[in-house]
Amino acid sequence: MPSTSDSVKVAVRVRPFNQREKNAGSQCIISMQDKTTNIKNPETGDIKSFSYDHSYWSHDGFKETPSGVSEPDGSNYADQKRLFSDLGQGVLDNAWQGYNAALFAYGQTGSGKSYSMIGYGANKGIVPITCEELFKAIDTSSDNKKQLRVFFSMLEIYNEQVRDLIVKEKPPHGGLKIRQNPKSGFYVEGLKQVPVRSYKEIEKLMESGTINRTTAATNMNATSSRSHMVITIRFEQVLVNDAGQSNTRSSDINLVDLAGSERADSTGATGDRLKEGSAINQSLSTLGNVISALADQAMGKTKVLVPYRDSVLTKLLQSALGGNSRTIMIAALSPADINYDETLSTLRYADRAKKIQNKATVNES
Ligand code: ADP
Ligand code: MG
Repeated sequence: MPSTSDSVKVAVRVRPFNQREKNAGSQCIISMQDKTTNIKNPETGDIKSFSYDHSYWSHDGFKETPSGVSEPDGSNYADQKRLFSDLGQGVLDNAWQGYNAALFAYGQTGSGKSYSMIGYGANKGIVPITCEELFKAIDTSSDNKKQLRVFFSMLEIYNEQVRDLIVKEKPPHGGLKIRQNPKSGFYVEGLKQVPVRSYKEIEKLMESGTINRTTAATNMNATSSRSHMVITIRFEQVLVNDAGQSNTRSSDINLVDLAGSERADSTGATGDRLKEGSAINQSLSTLGNVISALADQAMGKTKVLVPYRDSVLTKLLQSALGGNSRTIMIAALSPADINYDETLSTLRYADRAKKIQNKATVNES
């Protein structure tokens, strides 16, 4: 079976200033040169540099903002279409070859994770564009010996509870159980996997799922920025030969919009809110620990224990991190001096993630 070893690919993307930052007269502390992203400490003027697979501003609109933008040629500007052609197209190519793929977005609340992944209005994000292109390719596929099938699922992890976003639930939510299959690893028992025949069907499911996510959060007096959302597209190619034997090539594409990476203490949470915050941080901080352990492993450290089992998120993402998957991380950043601490911590996180080595094998049976 064909297989490849590859590191996790990392792209950072800086959103434009928001109104609050403009009102505060914020300065831009990010500059870019090719793959390098630099961040300036607004107090000391000290500059730290990081190199990634891609360093992006969001789009040309950024040129109009006040200060500090240093690369006039525009090569680091990426609108949603470029995000798809640089990153999403590869995910699709992998899926056709039978590799699993994962794409996840990391960053503080308001940094542009959902914008990049899902998008707003006409500015469709990488997930809908990828789904749309998948169906374009399916619809123009001329190989009529092959049966092509797509399944869609969408879940949320909140407070270490898993909730199906395709099903309308009344509170209390969640409670789906995680089980382990000796061959394929962890999965969510009873999660709806909806067969879909067109992009339109996916679009509808994503819309209602997004509404379910927001409504549930409101019912619990929380915000959806504290939950992790995982969309899985399963793509199957069934080939039946003349003797009637069938061969299935499959690919799971995991698309993950993570909870805001800011620490509970910086949001002023206390009491119940803090407890909830720390449970959410259990998934996020375990993700951090898993990434650190895998980075250590890749740097040659031996006997590293990778704590996948310490959170729901890392159980479900096990194959995406150090396993059978080709994985991409988008780190979303604010340009503003007032977010220096969070932005630096996101850059460091992304720097560790890029060291992770995955070994992907074609899924064929
Ligand atoms: P997050 O999901 O990280 O909490 P959002 O994606 O919801 O953040 O972004 C916060 C706000 O910033 C939204 O109003 C969004 O439209 C805007 N925004 C984020 N990224 C961009 C971008 N790349 N270009 C334009 N606006 C953006
Ligand atoms: Mg969001």
